[in-house]
Amino acid sequence: MTSIRVKNSCNSSPHGSTVMSQLVLWDSSPLFLQCRPQLLLCLWGMISLSGGPRTAWPLPVGSFRLGASQWLGLSQAFLVNQSAIVKWFIVSRMCINEPWAPSAAAEGAPPHKFDNAADTDREDNENATEGGDVNPDVNSLEPVPGCESVALEDGPPVPPPAYEPPTEGDRPQEVFFDSGDDIGEEAARAAILTFVDEHCCYGSRPAKNMTISKIIPTQGLHYQLETFNEARSTSRKFKPYAGGDVDGPENGAPPPVWSMACKPDQQFLTHKKNLEVPHTSVVKQCQQCNGCGLVTCGGCAGLGRVSCSSCFGSGTRTEYRGGERYTVTCTWCYGSGRETCNRCMGDGRVECPSCEGHKQLRHFIMLTVSYTNNLEDYILERSDMPDELIRNVSGQTIFQQTLPHVWPISQYPIQEVNENSIRLVEKHRTAWPHAMTLQQRQTLRSVPVTEAHYDWKNISTRFWVYGFEHEVHAPDYPHQCCWGCNVL
Ligand SMILES: [Zn+2]
Ligand SMILES: [Zn+2]
Ligand SMILES: [Zn+2]
Repeated sequence: MTSIRVKNSCNSSPHGSTVMSQLVLWDSSPLFLQCRPQLLLCLWGMISLSGGPRTAWPLPVGSFRLGASQWLGLSQAFLVNQSAIVKWFIVSRMCINEPWAPSAAAEGAPPHKFDNAADTDREDNENATEGGDVNPDVNSLEPVPGCESVALEDGPPVPPPAYEPPTEGDRPQEVFFDSGDDIGEEAARAAILTFVDEHCCYGSRPAKNMTISKIIPTQGLHYQLETFNEARSTSRKFKPYAGGDVDGPENGAPPPVWSMACKPDQQFLTHKKNLEVPHTSVVKQCQQCNGCGLVTCGGCAGLGRVSCSSCFGSGTRTEYRGGERYTVTCTWCYGSGRETCNRCMGDGRVECPSCEGHKQLRHFIMLTVSYTNNLEDYILERSDMPDELIRNVSGQTIFQQTLPHVWPISQYPIQEVNENSIRLVEKHRTAWPHAMTLQQRQTLRSVPVTEAHYDWKNISTRFWVYGFEHEVHAPDYPHQCCWGCNVL
């Protein structure tokens, strides 16, 4: 016969506790020796998950699937074997940080069932949910004055107040700085040698021995316009309400959306900020749990038990001993084919995910302030190298202007630059009618591009060196691959 003695010293409260449990199990039966690891886990699960001292004896034998923290605790268990008697000690320590934990159902007691509980056992599904994303019906809430049209989803942006664009008289003078220096043959050869070095299978002989016949220095021009906008929208949000002050409509009318103070964390950086709109909070009973704080457990669909994970509900297991096949009782579920649901500890209910067990929700209006940096550019690059290559290398800034609304460049000696600056500034002026432009920044950079013509053996071709980094574009470089690479 199996006899179990359990000594518990538990110090627990519903909100976070330390549980010290000491189990002393005495047993001498071969059956118990055979199934002891599982029984040990059962008991461990009972004590550690229930979060409080157990008073009902004998311990109901159920089975528990253990989570990571319990496995960790189990590593502290150790076994002392005293002659014919096996004595187990478990000294465990774990923290429980959940506001509500169901108590394990007493042996034979039915789980607490809601109407939507299932009729038959189902497979344990760790990923099942209790439908925490069930949104409360916002239409049942009174509209907040001034925010009547606010829906649960993000509303459309609220148009900003009108503003006056600056007048012609404020136009600052345009000053252009010189562009960077051109490079010579020596620098071009150094650049292509570095380039070959960085490509492990490129041969370096052509780079070392090529005859550079011609160097054509040019400048690529990169114009960028950034328009840093702010858009505002509102939406209904809710949080579990656990008591405390509520700033509701009785404290006054909510402020207009564009009058609430909010500053970007950084200019020209796309990011979002959320603010609660004052005087919009209302406390309501949680609709998901009808104000009881608990919902049907998603793991067992409210049954408090699931199919045994060891025998898949059959209650038996096949064993091979000495080449013979035996059907034996499942030692995990003791033949019942079922195990206690680990999520609700057999209770059938778990904490409501919407109100987190607090039974009430505080609904309020959230203001979302979206800062967006809209960047567009124009590249004027006259060599045969692909133009976009100069976008991501450094060059000389020859003009920069940051203003609430920039003036397009009009006096640069190259007319295409002026025309494209006008085109982009004009486009950005009206592109975002639902946003307020906070700042604009335009930058004109000159990026050196050197075209080098070279001869090597009977090949006559060219490569380009571009940017202050001396990046190289050499699509026709001979010896691009060692033999064998071509196969790939
Ligand atoms: Zn089983
Ligand atoms: Zn359950
Ligand atoms: Zn609830």
